[in-house]
Amino acid sequence: MARLGDSRKKREEAAPASRPHRRCLECGAALKPAARDFCAAGCRKAFGNRRMLRGAELYDLFMAHRYDRENAKQYRALTMMNRMAAEFWREDQRRRQGRPSWRPPAAVLAARADLKASAYFAHPVSQKKE
Ligand SMILES: [Zn+2]
Repeated sequence: MARLGDSRKKREEAAPASRPHRRCLECGAALKPAARDFCAAGCRKAFGNRRMLRGAELYDLFMAHRYDRENAKQYRALTMMNRMAAEFWREDQRRRQGRPSWRPPAAVLAARADLKASAYFAHPVSQKKE
């Protein structure tokens, strides 16, 4: 069973080959050779906090979009997610001089090889019937 923190460890181990950039993801400063993604702890925290804040609402809407379709349709969840992304984009353009505020898909998926496995759907989560 995966322990809390395992995915982070995998991501950190898998990250270098999938990230060709050598600039701080938050402030854009050039990184020292030993630095991974950020020039300082403050930049790492700022990047993570923004993703966490933005992601929480997107998560709720996306889960409803996938598993509570009627409710999601009523509230136009997909449209609202797209609007949120557009707001994030505009804010990034304004405050981050266009630097992306997200990790590249290759970096995210490097730690989630299980998603690409052909047997991924072979073990559906059992659902309790009530
Ligand atoms: Zn920085």
